[in-house]
Amino acid sequence: MRIDVVTIFPDYLAPLELSLIGRARRAGLLDVVVHDLREATTDRHRTVDDTPYGGGAGMVMKPEPWRRALDAVLAAGPADVGRPRLLVPSPGGRVLDQAMARELASEPWLVFACGRYEGIDERVLLDAAQRFEVTPVSLGDYVLNGGEVAVLAITEAVARLLPGVVGNAESLVEESHEDGLLEYPVYTKPASWRGLDVPEVLLSGDHAAIARWRHQQRLERTATRRPDLLAPTAADDPAGLAVVPATP
Ligand code: SAM
Repeated sequence: MRIDVVTIFPDYLAPLELSLIGRARRAGLLDVVVHDLREATTDRHRTVDDTPYGGGAGMVMKPEPWRRALDAVLAAGPADVGRPRLLVPSPGGRVLDQAMARELASEPWLVFACGRYEGIDERVLLDAAQRFEVTPVSLGDYVLNGGEVAVLAITEAVARLLPGVVGNAESLVEESHEDGLLEYPVYTKPASWRGLDVPEVLLSGDHAAIARWRHQQRLERTATRRPDLLAPTAADDPAGLAVVPATP
């Protein structure tokens, strides 16, 4: 997969050189290219923002540097991808979830446009829609200072789903949100720590009993912490033991 990121803070993306993502890049599983939006400016001050039409607080990102930057990304990217996905982090976008991460993991090429200030002039998205499949995407219902943190989160959620990025692919299968349930609690050695014991069943070696216990824990944990993930019948069954996940 190829990922391009356009930002006024390229250094913000440095963590993409670390850990599993960094290793995936070095292994050639993932190609990440970070672009400085200011390289696409033409004035002495490398200006990327201006005052908002209609008044109001803050500044808005100017359209022309974005057009030039996105043109440069398209010109340097893979030639065989028709319309790459342009993800525009925005608190008003589609909220990222595991299903969206899976959807994005099947794309050959993702391009991120990181907003700052009060955001990007709306015409940039309208213009880009002629060349990209544009998707505003949100990390959740709160406001960040810029799109870079969203890029880090989305890239990590997506890249770990690519074949070979996570060493043990089985560890992806039972994770929270994969089938609509949260994961069961996990433990490691020692069996007893500060008076707290690992549940007996996990020491039993009885794999069927362990699987039943874990499934029960997933249901209970989801019903307690995230009842919104369960089917509407959850309201009639507060313990959440009889309900099925709302989304498979
Ligand atoms: N004025 C904008 C609004 O109210 O919708 C918020 C602008 S915010 C200060 C600056 C940039 O941060 C946005 O353009 C976007 O790129 C990013 N951002 C803020 N909150 C976000 C969120 N929840 N998810 C993804 N990106 C976010």
